[in-house]
Amino acid sequence: MKLADFPRLEIAHRPTPLEPLRRLSAHLGGPEILVKRDDCTGLAGGGNKARKLEYLLADAQAVGATTIITSGGVQSNHARQTAAAAARLGLRCELVLPEIVAISGDSYAANGNVLLDRLLGARLHIVADSAAARQKISEIAAGVAAAGGLPYVIPVGGSNALGALGYVAAVGELFEQLAAGQAAVDAIIVVNGSGGTHAGIVAGLIAHGSSIPVYGISVAHAAAVQTATTVRLVRESAELLGIACAELENRVVVLDQFIGPGYGLPTPEMRAALALVARIEGLLLDPVYTGKGMAGLIELVQRREFRAGQRVLFWHTGGTPGLFAYEPQLTPTIPPLS
Ligand SMILES: *Cc1c(COP(=O)(O)O)cnc(C)c1O
Repeated sequence: MKLADFPRLEIAHRPTPLEPLRRLSAHLGGPEILVKRDDCTGLAGGGNKARKLEYLLADAQAVGATTIITSGGVQSNHARQTAAAAARLGLRCELVLPEIVAISGDSYAANGNVLLDRLLGARLHIVADSAAARQKISEIAAGVAAAGGLPYVIPVGGSNALGALGYVAAVGELFEQLAAGQAAVDAIIVVNGSGGTHAGIVAGLIAHGSSIPVYGISVAHAAAVQTATTVRLVRESAELLGIACAELENRVVVLDQFIGPGYGLPTPEMRAALALVARIEGLLLDPVYTGKGMAGLIELVQRREFRAGQRVLFWHTGGTPGLFAYEPQLTPTIPPLS
């Protein structure tokens, strides 16, 4: 099937802006840096999951689902956008949130995405770990079915072949914007968490016959693990679309040196990137994903991975509601004004 043959909801604000980061480019003194503003996709606070949910929830609706079930860390942006999409479609939403990040306190437990999940009418199930989450998801699904409903389980991050189509489509959107501006980009930098966004972008580039390199900045797993996950997702999405792809191992580049102590745990480089971009561009990043992604971009520029005159695109994937959950971790280390 072609991309246009897959049912898709219109629930994201598209196209998202493509903007130059002129002051950041000048500050770093390397390539020209652009940002693709997928923090502006709407759907209760923006982010990359809106694009995946356009395909996933179209499928849920097509099969007659009554209850959407998904999972993610306590401060999952994916859970929050899924809750919003379900509310919009009048479906029930059950969020299973394992405590996989070793951060405690009221802000992490109740502010940021959790506050929004509650406002959006999702049912929250806080569990100890990923094994407990899988167990809970089966229980909830069985309960929904027993009551005569139809459960629809969306994987962590919305990352399956269908969800990744959101980013295959996003590459088409980007190319339209670049064509309208008679411009091109030489590299794309994007965060890699559950892999679907990175995979969709690579599949989209392959579909367009483009060889623009993509750097996936891992925020969770070692490069070998995350590369394997991402390659599998590219292959599965390409299969859905009937696109041939070869030598994916060379195309899927994952960098894992920006994770720090672990998923969701702050790093000095993330803190510095968050403050720098806020102060010289007025642009908000998030502590779990895009802050680490931008730390990666900054280091790649400093390592001279790109030349002056090249254009590098930072794909902003959202997550800013997470800032409020990390207030106690962030406030004490906001750099003083010089
Ligand atoms: C989920 C998420 C990502 C990672 O996307 P994946 O498709 O899971 O790799 C990046 N940034 C933000 C803000 C996210 O919420």
